[in-house]
Amino acid sequence: MAEPEKRTAADAEPTAPCVTATHEVLFQVLEATRCDACGGGLQDQPDDGVGSGGRGTYIWLRGDSVEVENVPLCASCAAAIGITALSRWEIEEEEG
Ligand SMILES: [Zn+2]
Repeated sequence: MAEPEKRTAADAEPTAPCVTATHEVLFQVLEATRCDACGGGLQDQPDDGVGSGGRGTYIWLRGDSVEVENVPLCASCAAAIGITALSRWEIEEEEG
């Protein structure tokens, strides 16, 4: 009967890449290049006359505080989210 393979603690350790950064990363102002909804590139949008996208605002409650986040959206997602919001608002108005 063969002996079981001996393993050490080092064998069981997952190997994860180590990333370091300075505090300057916290204060960088990054130009948004991706749509927050679909992840598509904002520069890759075709100029179809609809526009080049825009921004959306997420608002949610966390405990007693109201969180507001402004995010970039591509033209397709901005239109889809806007139309969906309007249709839901109309449904709520009709239902009372
Ligand atoms: Zn999008």
